[in-house]
Amino acid sequence: METNFSKEQLKDKNNKSSEKIFRKCVHCGFCNATCPTYQLLGDELDGPRGRIYLIKDMLENNKPASEKIVKHIDRCLSCYSCMTTCPSGVNYMHLIDHGRNHIEKTYQRPFRDRFVRNFLSKVLSKSTNFRIIGILTRLAKPFIFFFPKNIREMINLMPKKFPKKTLPNMNIYPAKNKKKPVARVALLTGCVQKVIAPQINEATIRLLNRHGIEVVVSKGINCCGSLNHHLGKNDLANEIFRKNILIWYNEYLKNGLDAIISNTSGCGTTLKDYGFIFRSDENLKKKAKKISELTQDISEYLDENIKLNFIKKKENDKEYKIAYHSACSMQHGQKIHDIPINLIKKTGNQVFDIPDGHLCCGSAGTYNLLQNDIAKKLLKNKISNIEKTKPQFITTGNIGCITQIANGTKIPILHTVEIIDWYTGGPKPEVLRNL
Ligand code: SF4
Ligand code: SF4
Repeated sequence: METNFSKEQLKDKNNKSSEKIFRKCVHCGFCNATCPTYQLLGDELDGPRGRIYLIKDMLENNKPASEKIVKHIDRCLSCYSCMTTCPSGVNYMHLIDHGRNHIEKTYQRPFRDRFVRNFLSKVLSKSTNFRIIGILTRLAKPFIFFFPKNIREMINLMPKKFPKKTLPNMNIYPAKNKKKPVARVALLTGCVQKVIAPQINEATIRLLNRHGIEVVVSKGINCCGSLNHHLGKNDLANEIFRKNILIWYNEYLKNGLDAIISNTSGCGTTLKDYGFIFRSDENLKKKAKKISELTQDISEYLDENIKLNFIKKKENDKEYKIAYHSACSMQHGQKIHDIPINLIKKTGNQVFDIPDGHLCCGSAGTYNLLQNDIAKKLLKNKISNIEKTKPQFITTGNIGCITQIANGTKIPILHTVEIIDWYTGGPKPEVLRNL
């Protein structure tokens, strides 16, 4: 794609890297074929190629974002299916991030829109705030009809209750039965995940400890920052990124870390991008790059580093039919697809890919809250495809997808790490109690 940035504009590091990406695009439109919003809405501007043109136009012409541009950019899920399809290696993720940041700087959203986005930015990235809102929404449920539609949808998406934790809060979870741990890893416990599904972190910690690995949960690290990053709120996101980088890098230097484990693929994708985000920051670039290099999804880490010790128990004697939902951030963002499937196969169960598995379930961070109508259609399609495989339960590696899919079906859904923990000596997951 021809570009027309001036020399002055290219002094800006973000323009410079976006220009390189635009130049890779050959307008072929292959990406439209696998874009969920293009498939649903059939408008060129709701596909990746159209959005690339919109972003290029804003940046090259120093134009403030218009209502029309914002509408089409906001409808993008950041699912990165287009990146998997693109034959030219266009890094759409970095373009849409740049576009969103430009919108945030140049466009004044209507009051209600601003209010909702600020509310989500403040509430979801802080687990204490999220817990308080959870209690308030439960109290508000009987009066739900008084609220505007998008607030009603948010209230409905809130879990009915938060599960109780079974592991105490600790900074270091020591390896079991080893004088010296075989490895030492940091775990990102996640801002929303640790409140609505603490069993995922608990299964991860138990599993790693049981295999001789010490797990560090660093004080001061809550959110990975991706929530604000995807809302275009770069100042807030960068504040979180910086804090995380410094805390983990310090831990790495002082006590040693073999890996930083993410068990939420949406967060893992962002951690792996810290190096790019701080590429021009002289103080942080080396540290950020190191944090990205250390980051691994839990499935990747298990596959590469651990000889899993599977245990036969009476309760897991049956052979289950399991549908594997490949989260977009996992398959498109981190290019991990077969690894979790192969890990589950080792438990002796049958695992199925879901038809049209490359398409998003509609969760996409805060998307199901901000673009509820599109998210609902995507969920409906996803559930119908899941049901075609007639599974006894569903598994995936991302809390957002778990919450979204659980809202559309009664088939139980759980994180892949809960299955691996169960089959290597952990308890049977609560969600499978009736199976
Ligand atoms: S990220 Fe997903 S929704 Fe956005 S343009 Fe690419 S394929 Fe379409
Ligand atoms: S598939 Fe890649 S090269 Fe083709 S239009 Fe889409 S982004 Fe551009």
